[in-house]
Amino acid sequence: MIPPNIKSLILDMDGVLWKDSSPIGDLPAIFARIRQRGLKVVFATNNGTRTPEQYIERLAGFGVQAETWQVVTSSLVVAELLARRFSPPLPPASRPPSSPNTWRGRGAGGDGEGIKVFAIGEEGVMKALRDKGFELLPVEEAEKAQAVVMGIDRQINYYKMREAALLVRGGLPFYATNPDKTFPTPRGEIPGAGAWISVIVTATGIEPIYAGKPAPYQLELARERLGTVKEETLVVGDRLETDIAGGQAAGCPVALVLSGVSTREQAEAWRPRIDIVAENLTRLVD
Ligand SMILES: [Mg+2]
Repeated sequence: MIPPNIKSLILDMDGVLWKDSSPIGDLPAIFARIRQRGLKVVFATNNGTRTPEQYIERLAGFGVQAETWQVVTSSLVVAELLARRFSPPLPPASRPPSSPNTWRGRGAGGDGEGIKVFAIGEEGVMKALRDKGFELLPVEEAEKAQAVVMGIDRQINYYKMREAALLVRGGLPFYATNPDKTFPTPRGEIPGAGAWISVIVTATGIEPIYAGKPAPYQLELARERLGTVKEETLVVGDRLETDIAGGQAAGCPVALVLSGVSTREQAEAWRPRIDIVAENLTRLVD
C-alpha cells in the first residue's frame, strides 16, 4: 500500500508496533519487508518517559534491530527546543541560505551549558536535558530556574506543581513534552502528561510550548535525521489528533493504522483527507 515514491517512514510506536506488552503482528517479518523495500525508518513517540536507549532495548525484545539515532521522543525534542532557545543566534554567514530554520549546525550537545532548569518528568526527559548540558534543579532550589519543562512524572506531588506554577507565572519559558491527556492501558485510559500540564495552565493562564505531535518539531527533527524531503516521507500513526494532524502540519503524506486508538469512522470524517488508511502495519507494508 506504500506508494513507490516513498523513501522513508516515521513510525509511531504505541498502537502501531505494540499495545502494552503485546506486539501488533509479526514485527521481525514487517521490518524485513521494510528493509527489503529499501525504506529508512525513524521511530517518533510522544511518550517521553523512556530514553532512546530504553526504546532500542524494547524494540530488540520484540525482535526489531534499531540504532539510537532512529528514536525521536518528545523528551529529546523538548531538550532540543530549549537548547535552541538558549543558544546564541548563528552569525548570518554560517547560516545555510536555503534553510534558515534548520536544526542542523547546532552543537550536538552543550547548548544548555550553565542554564538552570526546573523539570518535572521521568528519566527520559531528565537525561535528554542533561545530555544538552542543562543543570537540573531539585524542587528545593526551583527558584533559581531559568526555564520550566514538564512531562509526565509518576512521582508528581503538590510541591513540584506549586514551584512550576510560581515560575511560569513569573514569566519563565515554559516547555512541555506532549499534550496527550490520557495514556492507554489494559484497564483503560489513565492521566497522561497533558492532564498534569493542564493544572499549571489552569493555575497560570499560560500555555506551554509543546514539543510532541501534533506540533511539527518532532517530525521535522525525525525527517532531518532521515534526510528525505517531505513528499517522500510517510508519517504513520494510530491517533488522528496527534500523528495524523502532526504529519499533515509537517506537510508529509500520512498513513493511519487502525490497530490503536482511532477508528475507520473517525478517519473517514477527518479533514484534510488521510492519504492511506490500513488495518495495521502488516497490511501497510504489504
Ligand atoms: Mg500511538
